[in-house]
This record gives sequence, C-alpha cells and structure tokens, in this order.
Amino acid sequence: MATEARPRVLIVEDEPDMNHLLADVLSAYGFEPIPAATGQEALTILAEQTPDAILLDLMLPDLNGFELCHQLKTSRTTRKIPVVILTALDRPADRRDGYKTGADDYVTKPFTPEGLVARLRACLEHCCAVQKECSHLVLTADLSASINDLKVFNTLTTCLYCMTDLVPDQMEALRRGLISLSDAAGHWAAEHRSLAPVQLTIDLTPTRLRLQFQPTSKESEGFLAEHLHPEAAVPSEFTDAGVIDRLMEEAGGVVLEKRLRPPAE
Ligand code: CA
Repeated sequence: MATEARPRVLIVEDEPDMNHLLADVLSAYGFEPIPAATGQEALTILAEQTPDAILLDLMLPDLNGFELCHQLKTSRTTRKIPVVILTALDRPADRRDGYKTGADDYVTKPFTPEGLVARLRACLEHCCAVQKECSHLVLTADLSASINDLKVFNTLTTCLYCMTDLVPDQMEALRRGLISLSDAAGHWAAEHRSLAPVQLTIDLTPTRLRLQFQPTSKESEGFLAEHLHPEAAVPSEFTDAGVIDRLMEEAGGVVLEKRLRPPAE
C-alpha cells in the first residue's frame, strides 16, 4: 500500500519562535512544514513549488499580509492553494478584510494546536471538494453582508479560475460587484429591520455562468430595482469589466448571464 504524502504547508510568519512552534505542531500532526520569515521569501518559495496550503501571518516586516493574500488569490498559479490567515487581529472588520482578499479561512491567535489543525484540515477538505465540483457548481446564499457571502463569492471565483478563460481583472470585478451587492443588502436589511432581501443562486458550468437574484419578500423587490435592474442600475464593477452578456428580468427576479470558455492550455 502506498503511503499518503504528508501535505506541505507553507508557514509565513516572521517571529522565529512562532514559526518554529507552528512547524512543530504541523509536523506532529502529519504535515510537512515549509518555513518562510518574510512575504518575499514566501513568494520566492511559491515561484518554485506549490504547497498544499499556506498559513499566513498578517503583520510581516516587508509585505502587508492582506496585500500578499490578494496577490496570491489573483494569480492563476497560486489561486487554488488554500490560504489560512493566522493573526492576532481579531476585530470583525479585520476578519471581513481577510475574506475580502480571498482568504479561505481566518484563525485568530491565541490558538490551540488541535484547534488550528482541525481548521487547517477542514479548509483543505473544503478546497479539495470545491475543486472537484468546479465542472458544475451550484450554490445559494441569502445576501446580507455576512462572512458566508464572502466565502460563497470566493468559492465561485476559485471555480472561475479553474474552469474559464476570464482574466483575473474580470474575475476580481465580478467578485467586487457581488461584494458591493452583498454590502448593500446588509444595509437594506438593517434599514428595513428585515432579513436578507435577496437570495442569490449561482449556477456555473464550463460554458456559462448564471447568477439568479430573487427577492425574498414582496417588500424586498425594491432592493433589486434599486441595485440590479436591467435598465436602471447595474453595479459599475460588472459593466466596467464586461462580465455581463445578458441581464434580464425573469420569474420576478433578475438573472445575469456570462458565456464562458475553458482556459487556454
Ligand atoms: Ca508578525
């Protein structure tokens, strides 16, 4: 029986004690640690090899961890590598910023070895499952400016990177447009003292992306008229980057369609 390879995890952490501790923990739990003390060292390693996951500290001496994560998540060669941010920054706004850069998980210090390893394993499994489902991804989310919305958009974006020839600017524009709709939905819900106004259903195949936005109540029909209307209102991120072929009203909601082609070899 072949022995399973130990998953390789790039540890990007500038404090030597913490880097050693993380390496010891990961080794003890069956991973192979690859240490990097700076953002630049991490990029040098990533130019030569593809680890199975990245543990990323946010406060690094050379590069800002948020910027580094964004850089990794907007490159075809590194997009698919799961990134777990590991940081002392524990405000909800920091967490949101982490997911907005495209991170797959966000773990705060202090942590327990068991807890960190459980999150890392769950993240690896999730990312592996997503990449298997890429050929036909179906997801729904009630848009409400939640962390879950950001995770759903990140999953969609990873599948777009795997399956389509869209350029990174287009995929980022689509993701940013969705984030602005999600933020607007959160504001709308707070103003109207109601639940999420719109349910988004994502249906992605290798030849087309279909995003269906359905109001969740009679009252919330106004949200779509205000924020996503074929004649009146389209997020500028979508129109500027040409990520819509058709935007139409359908079954009481709005549907966005984009024809797709597989990535060039
Ligand atoms: Ca640090």
